[in-house]
Amino acid sequence: MKTIGVLGGMSWESSLEWYRLANERVAARLGGYHSARILLDSLDFAEIEALQAQDDWDAAGTLLADRARALESAGAEILVLATNTMHLVADRITDAVGIPFLHIADAAGDAVTEAGLTTVGLLGTAFTMEKPFYAEKLDEHGIRTIVPDADDRRTVHDIIYSELVHGVVRDESRQRYIDVIERLVDRGAEGVILGCTEIELLITAADAPVPVFPTTALHVEAAVTAALG
Ligand code: GLU
Repeated sequence: MKTIGVLGGMSWESSLEWYRLANERVAARLGGYHSARILLDSLDFAEIEALQAQDDWDAAGTLLADRARALESAGAEILVLATNTMHLVADRITDAVGIPFLHIADAAGDAVTEAGLTTVGLLGTAFTMEKPFYAEKLDEHGIRTIVPDADDRRTVHDIIYSELVHGVVRDESRQRYIDVIERLVDRGAEGVILGCTEIELLITAADAPVPVFPTTALHVEAAVTAALG
């Protein structure tokens, strides 16, 4: 089994989920006492959030590239970045290391294609929904992306930063997300990518009238499959 290097802590609430799911998946596949080989570098999210707010993606890229190199030096054989948003600087990470990097939107795109869908709604931070990097990656898979309108994007973004990254899960916010999902479905979304690693702490398949694609779980599955070769 290969060692997975995880750039995490963005936020730690979703990294906890990443770590738990990875160990569960390895145990399910190998049985016995097996668990995942993981090197987790859990960053201080305050530092990341400040760089996002300042739109300083260059500094964020430098920071994540440094941490990625450290994971490679420590023995990681596969690398993942356990957040969707920071994939905005994925190129800086892949330039910095020699080990394979598993892009979270590739994991999502593969699952959408496997489900036979071609048009999906995308929920995530404003950065993920509004900047081109995520939709462009899905486009490489032949997938068309629909994002919520401006008011709905604000709702989705604010609930991530004011509640979910702090571990706050509220029924009222779940309902607001369900309403946003329904409006995406009305506009033609055949499925919805939960393109922020905390959203699946709030929304499950049972909450949506179309298939949902939980990026933490899908990313874990891709990483475990790669680790087990
Ligand atoms: N974890 C989130 C994501 O998947 C949002 C937090 C962040 O900005 O890193 O995008």
